[in-house]
Amino acid sequence: MKPERNDIYARAQAAFLGVALGDALGATTEFMTPGEIKSRYRVHRKIIGGGWLGLKAGQVTDDTEMSLAIAEAIIQQQEWDLKQIAENFLAWMRSRPVDIGSTVRKGIRSYMTYGTLEVPDNEWDAGNGAVMRMAPVALYTLGNPNLLRRYAIQQAHLTHHHRLSDAACICVGRMTQAAILGADRFDLHAMTRELTLEFPTFKFNRYKGLASGYVVDTLQTVFHYLFSTASFEECLTGIVNQGGDADTTGAIGGMIAGAFYGTEALPKKWLKKLNPATRADIETKAKELVRLSPLEQPGRRS
Ligand code: MN
Ligand code: MN
Repeated sequence: MKPERNDIYARAQAAFLGVALGDALGATTEFMTPGEIKSRYRVHRKIIGGGWLGLKAGQVTDDTEMSLAIAEAIIQQQEWDLKQIAENFLAWMRSRPVDIGSTVRKGIRSYMTYGTLEVPDNEWDAGNGAVMRMAPVALYTLGNPNLLRRYAIQQAHLTHHHRLSDAACICVGRMTQAAILGADRFDLHAMTRELTLEFPTFKFNRYKGLASGYVVDTLQTVFHYLFSTASFEECLTGIVNQGGDADTTGAIGGMIAGAFYGTEALPKKWLKKLNPATRADIETKAKELVRLSPLEQPGRRS
């Protein structure tokens, strides 16, 4: 079934808003164990801030901020410009963000010092920090799967260079795009099968409850809850109550689930808590990214 143009724009916005909602909701339980979360909140299901970063309710972290930095670069240049993305990452790092991952910091420092736009292959770079910022790439390359692959990897390698991270970026980007374009859950599941066929380590049928920042744990957590729940709220609640890297698993889950369930399914009580400037920024940028995408600009090659 082919969705209407308006529906595509709405789902694209829901995907990007989903990142922020998962980030803001999950930041509260980041680095907690499921047991600690249970004894403190029973079930954590409200955007209340706090957490180890001591956030305000509705405040987002690096996951959302880096996604916005990529979106901003594309919109500034009206095209894909990796150097502009690196510049925006650098400006963001200098703005003293509330949180920044060590691999991300290393990559940005390498750009700052040497102008590096691709960090070397590194077996320790299998964190989830490149996957968490895939939303703008998915939106901007809607309608061209080859561009998605190329740009997913380019943006990833600014900080993370590992085949599992690369595969995860592409898979999450593809799933987000497919969901925006009206895929059902069988279509999405088939995409996870392609990933697990190539990299069996991502299999999630016997989910062990690990939700760390290791990209394999992260995707297993996201997929487990995406396919075992029936709403955006249930999916994200399940994910963030798993603790660990909860803001990032939440952000990635929110990206795919937001695209899949659409704007109407985003809980109003969560949207109301989200920082209003962040929300407005995301809604504007998401729309602009789709407007610049191959879907709307056929023939576009970059
Ligand atoms: Mn974060
Ligand atoms: Mn995180």
